[in-house]
Amino acid sequence: MIATCRSCHQAFWRYRRDHPPSGFCSLSCHAAGPTKPKRDDVLPPKPDVVLANMVRHRLYFHFTTSLLGWYADCATCEELETDYAASLEYHWETASKELVADANYRWAQQTSSKANA
Ligand SMILES: [Zn+2]
Ligand SMILES: [Zn+2]
Repeated sequence: MIATCRSCHQAFWRYRRDHPPSGFCSLSCHAAGPTKPKRDDVLPPKPDVVLANMVRHRLYFHFTTSLLGWYADCATCEELETDYAASLEYHWETASKELVADANYRWAQQTSSKANA
């Protein structure tokens, strides 16, 4: 059976129920004990979520809904900008892959219906 190690959070194949110790991929992981999932495993929030937080923060702290202003000495603004960049970078890649797959699918549908006609 496939299991997820409670220490290193890698998937591993358990051949026997009693070895390695239940819930761990190896004896060294068992010795290390269970840990919280790594922060890398957490996906960045969606760009529109970060954007909404940005708008809310600017409204309450800078009394504006504009995203164009630059508040160099505001740590929250800086943090949100960084989050937004990371979010765009991550989700843009995912989104564009989906778009390409969708376009390819439509193209295949069109060409096959023409061939049948
Ligand atoms: Zn492990
Ligand atoms: Zn700010």
